[in-house]
Amino acid sequence: MKGIVYLIGAGPGDPGLMTVKGLECLRRAEVVVYDYLANPAFLDEAPEDAERIYVGKRKGKHHRPQEEITRLLVEKARLGKVVARLKGGDPYVFGRGGEEAHTLHLEGIPFEVIPGVTAGFAAAAYAGIPLTHRDYTTSLGLVTGHETPAKKISSIDWDRLATGVGTLVFYMGMANLPLIVGKLMAHGRSPQTPVAIIRWATTPHQKTLVATLGTVEERVHQAQLKPPAVIVVGEVVGLREKLRWFDNRPLFGKRILVTRTAEQAGSFTKLLEAQGAEAIACPVIAIAPPAGWDELDGEIRDLGKTDFLILTSANGVDAFFARLAVAGLDVRALHGVQVVSVGPKTSQTISARGIRPDLEPAEFRAEAVVELLKKEGVSGKRVLYPRAELARKLIPAELAAAGADVHAPVAYRTVPPEGGGERIRDLLAEGGIDAVTFTSSSTVENFLDMVGEGAQRLLERVDVFSIGPLTTATAERRGLSVSAQPEAYTLEGLIESMVEYYQ
Ligand code: SAH
Repeated sequence: MKGIVYLIGAGPGDPGLMTVKGLECLRRAEVVVYDYLANPAFLDEAPEDAERIYVGKRKGKHHRPQEEITRLLVEKARLGKVVARLKGGDPYVFGRGGEEAHTLHLEGIPFEVIPGVTAGFAAAAYAGIPLTHRDYTTSLGLVTGHETPAKKISSIDWDRLATGVGTLVFYMGMANLPLIVGKLMAHGRSPQTPVAIIRWATTPHQKTLVATLGTVEERVHQAQLKPPAVIVVGEVVGLREKLRWFDNRPLFGKRILVTRTAEQAGSFTKLLEAQGAEAIACPVIAIAPPAGWDELDGEIRDLGKTDFLILTSANGVDAFFARLAVAGLDVRALHGVQVVSVGPKTSQTISARGIRPDLEPAEFRAEAVVELLKKEGVSGKRVLYPRAELARKLIPAELAAAGADVHAPVAYRTVPPEGGGERIRDLLAEGGIDAVTFTSSSTVENFLDMVGEGAQRLLERVDVFSIGPLTTATAERRGLSVSAQPEAYTLEGLIESMVEYYQ
């Protein structure tokens, strides 16, 4: 087997901005070599047993000289490895990808280059600036703003650049900003020319400052704006006012704690991010098996006598079908049993097992399940309700009162995950958290227990969002004041109430 090196453009930061081909190569990699501008989230995409090597370079803090990085690529490829060299943005735009490729060529190592979305293009798009626009400019230049001993930017032909190119994008230019704007103006570019500085583009931390050539130096100084940033110079910058879309989304810049289980956080996180928020996962619930399986297993043996099976959560569904399999059975054992689902999400997980739920209430609540079953007629019927250990007693109690023979074995327990409390405490103490979201009473209880003493004080400046009245009641009983609660007790509703609150 022969080694190969893929020089992959990892894009500017937003993990969605890597190419499909780049991702495919990364997923096949045996060695991943990456630096600090490539989003670390990509490392999760590489095979678990791939070797991961950080060669991050930061100005002034060179971890490894370029020659050493290139030598590493050669060495690993010679061992027959598939090497993914992840580079921020595009490998061939101010990324020294050309130098790496040249050495690979000299050493006879096969390589492929997968382009990436370069920072300048991405920053402009996410700041609302079309780099070219027929009404404003017909040309675009990408320029380095970094002085190297070999190539001084003062050697740039400023005379032609300043007035010869419509839109200019400077990379690595923050340290030399005074020199850059000075040269442009000295060589004839008007001091009124609009300039945008875009920092950490495409990430939740994106900051954009708009000024003119004449004022930008002072403004950057006031705002203490630091690298990494690109500098966009030209009339097109003015379009941002109308065309910005990224940093004016309702929850942009908000850092929001998500307390759901690690398995469940994903969908909620996506919804938050779609509104511009930075969602920080800090699960306060883990799913654990019940103290014993005897009860549920016994009920599964009696499925033949059962009339209704009530499932009220994805965890309940998982546990039930797992035990069904352990008993050597499959979905056919549910022949003749009416399957009742509490709502659309649970129905999805049931359908994924090849079963279409027979009944689902219009409203997503335990009370509605009870109403629905009463209408069906449960008197004298055997009802199986695999439940969470701490589930409310409402369903079994009401159905029993209506004459049903209710069996409610514990199918799973929710427990606080090991550790994690300290991390949450640190996040809160740092002061950068805007809000915390609670999607059930147990998220409230566990969160406060995990944070421990002083939790209420740490949450003083943090907005608390609750999914519904029961969760709110728990939060208030534990001394929190809830900022908002939606009318519809769903994740979508919760997001809507947050958007409304911040508007
Ligand atoms: N190959 C990279 C550029 C590497 S040079 C690319 O194609 O994007 C490093 C410079 O890129 C930084 O100094 C900064 O000017 C720019 N840069 C990289 N990522 C950026 C980001 N997320 N936001 C703003 N500028 C960024």
